[in-house]
Amino acid sequence: MQFKDLQLNKPILRAIAEKNYSNPTEVQQKVIPKIIERKDVIVTAQTGTGKTASFALPILRLLFDKQDAPKKGKKIKALIVTPTRELAIQVFENFKKYGKYTNLKATAIFGGVSSVPQQEILEKGVDILIATPGRLLDLHKQDIIRLDKVEQFVLDEADLMLDMGFINDIKKIERLCPEERQTLLFSATMPETIEELARTIMIDPVRISVDKNSSTADTVSQKLLYVPKKEKISLCVHLLRNEIKGNVIIFRRTKFGADKLEKSLAKKGYNTVCIHGDKSQSARQKALKDFKKGNSQILIATDVAARGIDVPAVDAVINFDLPNVAETYVHRIGRTGRAGSLGNSFSLCCEDEKEYVNTIEELIGTKIFVESNHPFPLDPELKPEVHKKKSKSKYRKSRKSEASKKKKRRWY
Ligand code: AMP
Repeated sequence: MQFKDLQLNKPILRAIAEKNYSNPTEVQQKVIPKIIERKDVIVTAQTGTGKTASFALPILRLLFDKQDAPKKGKKIKALIVTPTRELAIQVFENFKKYGKYTNLKATAIFGGVSSVPQQEILEKGVDILIATPGRLLDLHKQDIIRLDKVEQFVLDEADLMLDMGFINDIKKIERLCPEERQTLLFSATMPETIEELARTIMIDPVRISVDKNSSTADTVSQKLLYVPKKEKISLCVHLLRNEIKGNVIIFRRTKFGADKLEKSLAKKGYNTVCIHGDKSQSARQKALKDFKKGNSQILIATDVAARGIDVPAVDAVINFDLPNVAETYVHRIGRTGRAGSLGNSFSLCCEDEKEYVNTIEELIGTKIFVESNHPFPLDPELKPEVHKKKSKSKYRKSRKSEASKKKKRRWY
């Protein structure tokens, strides 16, 4: 199938051609026609599948058809709600690119920055608004935003939105939109809470599911490394020095942990960037820009901050902490091995985290390969004596012979 078979119009096809997309992805093939038919659609798909274009392109097409030429006094006709600022910016950038040959105007609003410039843009009128829930409700309360002309209401990364405690905000926002509208819900997972939400805000939705799990497993090598908690930094540095060629995302469970790792790696001379919820908006944007440009090859991130952001061509992922939610493991390692390229993932597991391994393996339906050939094993008996005493080069030599002796043993 080609984009021209999807009832998109010339200005949109021209913008897609400029992006060098050759064919629509699976989610785009399935979702675009349903949105153009004006159906409510509920989509299970993760970031990296092309899901943003799967709603952005048909929304542009539907709005373009109806567009009333004036540039001033436009009314918000499409509302896209996202859980994080990064995702809002990313979705906005997509709309800008795909809509560059239309007369449609999009903008993004989110917290953590002054609302004045956002208000100025809104006052001039926009067709498409991408927003995080808090700032949206805030500006609505001040009568700067009206949602009574919304035709498409999109919830992106709905499961994350619920995890972040936005359920009541979403219900409030939904009530501000007209009853007669199209509702589109995108979520990486489909827990009962999302089903329940869908029942209250959608009408007879078409269900589309695009599974990315198996393709992730095919293109990402997964290694599990058992390690004492206090040696995790040393093992991480060992991996950066010896195993990883190219750019890497290191995931931490907490903001505190992310900051601590940033400092520790800086002391060892590594130039890293870090994103998490306590960093200012401008610091987060700068970090992502530096990472995307290649100014820094190491991005340290918490799950919430990293979810949904599009960073192409990541060579490796390190799970510095194992996630306590199995799906998060799939999201994290899905950051590497994208678009058919090979990726590597390394999961560091200490004693307290062993319990998470089983649930992750159950979810992905396979055992993760245990890499025992590393200098900081969890079992102290198996730790090479030489580790503390010898210089690095001598140490490496002795480890080789140690490793060959213990070749068949597992470290857990
Ligand atoms: P998303 O899942 O929306 O975050 O998209 C992931 C990446 O895929 C983004 O970098 C998009 O620019 C890219 N993309 C979206 N659709 C296509 C397509 N049909 N062909 C190639 N790349 C695409």
